[in-house]
Amino acid sequence: MSEVSVRQLLSRRRRLAGGLSESERTLRGVLLSEGRRCSSEGCRCRRGELHGPYTYLAVYDDGRSRTIYVPQTARAVVEEHVQVTQRNDAMLAEIAQINLELLRRRALG
Ligand SMILES: [Zn+2]
Repeated sequence: MSEVSVRQLLSRRRRLAGGLSESERTLRGVLLSEGRRCSSEGCRCRRGELHGPYTYLAVYDDGRSRTIYVPQTARAVVEEHVQVTQRNDAMLAEIAQINLELLRRRALG
């Protein structure tokens, strides 16, 4: 990043900020697809034929991770939220890097 001019950093930052979208859809997590065992003895799942696969959202919250069941009907919407969030987070991370560089160059304003 050191060969890039402050002017270029500022314009890249502006472009990134302009690319952020739909922040109200922010949903941080990872979609997982997993088979499950049920509670009934003698069910085929006890022989390894698991039920599902079902969709879960793995979320990291307050220092611990947990999974939340995602109904089939909600899967597409959750997927869109997660994708929007990943795109925005990638842009925010790049903006943060640019701001660090601007601070080093005493050009953060
Ligand atoms: Zn079963």
